[in-house]
Amino acid sequence: LVASMEQVEETYIMIKPDGVQRGLVGEIISRFEKKGFKLTGLKLFQCPQELAEVHYEELKSKSFFPKLIGYITSGPVVCMAWEGVGVVASARKLIGSTNPLDAAPGTIRGDFAVQTGRNVVHGSDSPENGKREIGLWFKEGEVIQWTPAIAPWLK
Ligand code: ADP
Ligand code: MG
Repeated sequence: LVASMEQVEETYIMIKPDGVQRGLVGEIISRFEKKGFKLTGLKLFQCPQELAEVHYEELKSKSFFPKLIGYITSGPVVCMAWEGVGVVASARKLIGSTNPLDAAPGTIRGDFAVQTGRNVVHGSDSPENGKREIGLWFKEGEVIQWTPAIAPWLK
């Protein structure tokens, strides 16, 4: 029972500008909802250049970095915080490989994208980065810890 040994984690998921512009917001949110993760933060947001640079600071030396910053700031993104057991690695599986041509069918990138430079969605790569990125993209009070009531509509 490997899964039961996994920890409750939080991850930062972001629908990139191409995902928003192509009308994939509902489809992408739905995949995380149906998997069984808990949404704790959600907003449409126009990312300033400085935040994009901090978010992707590990990639600063890459030749594609200026294009990446241009892409992420090219239109509004949907910022999300999701919570759940093993959510960081599981979300990366739901998202698929960085290069959409390598991403398996059934994954978000495998189903909806072709180019690495337009791969529609971001997901944190570790629990530490999940916390870091949620702290970067959300203000105090925008992430809500909540517990679902147990099927009160059945009463
Ligand atoms: P991931 O988003 O799968 O974690 P990385 O952290 O390696 O991938 O890269 C961050 C983002 O930078 C990618 O999702 C993609 O948008 C962009 N990117 C990565 N590699 C390239 C590349 N070779 N050319 C253009 N954009 C790239
Ligand atoms: Mg990454």
